[in-house]
Amino acid sequence: MNDMAYQTLNPFTNELVASFPDATKEEVDDAIATAHDAFLSWRRAPISTRTPMLARAAELLRADRRRYAELLTLEMGKVIGEAEAEVDLSADILQYYADRGEELLKPEPVPVAYASEGQVQIVKEPLGVLLAVEPWNFPYYQVVRVAAPQLLAGNTILLKHASNVPRCAAVFDDLFERAGFPDGAFTNLYRPHTLTKYVINDPRVRGVALTGSEEAGAIIATYAATAIKKSTLELGGADPFVVLEDADIDKTVDWAVFGRHWNAGQVCVSAKRMIVVDEVFDEFLAKYRAGVAALQAGDPLDPKTTLAPLSSQDAADRLAEQVQVAVGGGAAAETVGPPVPSLGALFQPTILTGMVPGNPAYYQELFGPVSTIIRVKDEAEAIAVANDSPFGLGGSVFTGDPARGARVAREIDTGMVFVNHPTMVKADIPFGGVKHSGYGRELTNLGIQEFINKKVIDVVDIDAPF
Ligand code: NAP
Repeated sequence: MNDMAYQTLNPFTNELVASFPDATKEEVDDAIATAHDAFLSWRRAPISTRTPMLARAAELLRADRRRYAELLTLEMGKVIGEAEAEVDLSADILQYYADRGEELLKPEPVPVAYASEGQVQIVKEPLGVLLAVEPWNFPYYQVVRVAAPQLLAGNTILLKHASNVPRCAAVFDDLFERAGFPDGAFTNLYRPHTLTKYVINDPRVRGVALTGSEEAGAIIATYAATAIKKSTLELGGADPFVVLEDADIDKTVDWAVFGRHWNAGQVCVSAKRMIVVDEVFDEFLAKYRAGVAALQAGDPLDPKTTLAPLSSQDAADRLAEQVQVAVGGGAAAETVGPPVPSLGALFQPTILTGMVPGNPAYYQELFGPVSTIIRVKDEAEAIAVANDSPFGLGGSVFTGDPARGARVAREIDTGMVFVNHPTMVKADIPFGGVKHSGYGRELTNLGIQEFINKKVIDVVDIDAPF
């Protein structure tokens, strides 16, 4: 039983709750065939029949919010309040697309001057079966980010979720079925890595959306490129959190503590690198240390807990190794706050200072409650350090002058920058990055466009000149 890759293993108690066998090749073949058959009729379903199903899925999530939230906490350990917020966010995304289906998919006339005899328009057609490969850190939100827009568009989805959240993955088969989607519109499979290439190579599969690590992204994008299929990659990040001398330091520190520690620091857009100008560095560090020390590590189901365990003991061990590498490279590591209880995958919050580019951990993503705090002399150096990263996902600038914040934001080479807020995650703000954080966008109109055939139809007078 322990050899099965797909397992529910409570990261707070380390108890193995359930294991699930891998899907076989025959099951994968059946799933592709069913998804393709579903696509052939779903693509013709009027948008007005698709949108109520999305709205119904949102309603079902909200109606059973606590139960869905507890499943998140059980499988990957996030604190229950954040789990409930993830259920709400997922419902908001479904509702967003339910409310805007007609508008997002309506044909667009193309104003033409050179081809004035024709009536040119772009119609938005689905591509077919899509593969969604998703990570465990937001087990519902990540799936909904792809499924809601793409089901609305008329595509059908095969999900390969992370192996440590099998029950969260299974939620969606049930949810979409109860919401009225046809059989095959959405299918979760506990598929082994060895069958990924096989699925992507199937001619009925027309695209792949992956959220996860750089390593997985590079492998899966290579499969997609070799098969000449569209892919989107939402990968890791090392978001800069720039603090300028005119920032409100107390409020900035509150956001910094939250921005680094929500979801136990396991967020692609966590505030991973705090870049603080010299003038306010000492004040920021002292107050940040106090803020982190006040976090309450413990049972994620206890509403008083503000620091959750990591998703697994392996994740905690990996992070501890990275801290050792940073220290070996010359950084100072300071553990902060009272010792966390030695339970499950709880991790002692740590502050790293003295991180410099020659340190082997400097360019790594640290996925947990480890804060890198970098002193810079001024705004120009802050921008240079912010951009000295292989990643380019989100970022923040804290300043008392919003115009200055917007100007600095323009200088930061990432996909999203927020002034006076950690990188924000909302149903109606597009999401995505540049550089090693991947390519493509999710959410809003940008997200739905990723897997749509923007087909040109030009109705021309037969006597028009060539
Ligand atoms: P991961 O190891 O890359 O896993 C992500 C998904 O890819 C899982 O479903 C995993 O399945 C699958 N996978 C990995 N290698 C594969 C392969 N060779 N073939 C097929 N599937 C493969 O990432 P993670 O550790 O779960 O997630 C954390 C990473 O995701 C961090 O870097 C984080 O920053 C990033 N992330 C990015 C965003 C964003 O929107 N940019 C959002 C959230 C997370 P298994 O579980 O079976 O290995």
